[in-house]
Amino acid sequence: MPEPETVRTRFAPSPTGYLHVGGARTALFNWLFARNNGGQFVLRIEDTDADRNTEEARAAIVDGLRWLGVDWDEGPGAGGDRGPYLQSERTGIYQRHLDALDAAGRVYDDGGAIRFRVPDTDITVDDRICGTQSVNLVQAGSRAWDKEAGVEVEANPDLIIRRPDGSFLFHFVNVVDDLEMGITHVLRGEDHLPNTPKHVALFEALGATPPVFAHIPLILNKDGSKMSKRDRGAGLKWYQEAGFLPEAVRNYLALLGWSPKDDREKMAIAEIVGLFDFEHLNRSNAKFDLEKCEWLNGQYIAALGPEEFLASARPFAPGAPDAAVAAR
Ligand code: GLU
Repeated sequence: MPEPETVRTRFAPSPTGYLHVGGARTALFNWLFARNNGGQFVLRIEDTDADRNTEEARAAIVDGLRWLGVDWDEGPGAGGDRGPYLQSERTGIYQRHLDALDAAGRVYDDGGAIRFRVPDTDITVDDRICGTQSVNLVQAGSRAWDKEAGVEVEANPDLIIRRPDGSFLFHFVNVVDDLEMGITHVLRGEDHLPNTPKHVALFEALGATPPVFAHIPLILNKDGSKMSKRDRGAGLKWYQEAGFLPEAVRNYLALLGWSPKDDREKMAIAEIVGLFDFEHLNRSNAKFDLEKCEWLNGQYIAALGPEEFLASARPFAPGAPDAAVAAR
């Protein structure tokens, strides 16, 4: 079923570590969804956490996405008329929206920090994968960790959106940017589902209709445990360095939470794009299976012509003759 409006999706990584398969899959799913609907895909770098961001992490994200062939219509290096696409350069935009909330009496000062007063009403999130949930953020309350006592304590449910040092926090900038960038569909990891009522409350306070949300089930190890950074194949760079073909890895990542609903596995990207809608997204967690990825990579390698094979293998065999010589 085609989506009715002009579709705009985004990948919004925080450049604090390497690009892991979960992040790469999120980027790919947003790209596939945009391409399926003839829409646009935006890359936005969420670098508000100055202490944790690194230049290398940003470069690894950009490099990893390019390697996978996940190209962005707007974002760093691509331009676009809704930039800048680095949150660290958007402070004026956040301040403007904060002023609007202030004028509407929706925020207050708390020891130099600014808090958003969450509404004492039910907020409904209608998620296209996880279903509908309703929550009253005031009644649900908030918990915080008391370091000295070593226990969890009741905390103020009103969200801090600006720190005393003037920097803005994740929930607010994430929502302002989705609003400013005209994002219509947010596909992201299920770990963000608990944040979504807060985001919906902020969209509503800013006088905007929230985008469509679709939270993608997690990627687990074969034994059902949570994937960790240390697991083999957890980072995209590992595939790049080990000589995997990017088309094979992209095909494998697409199958982590999406399925053509038949037994096809090796599929051309155009076929995947053609079938990438909510109906084909899975509701259950995906199982990460490196052997399957290796098998798929083998299928792709076997289908290469001799010239393509040499060109792909060359960086992994320094000193080997060039393709023209080898073909003689
Ligand atoms: N910067 C957030 C993250 O990397 C983005 C969350 C989102 O996609 O809304 O988890």
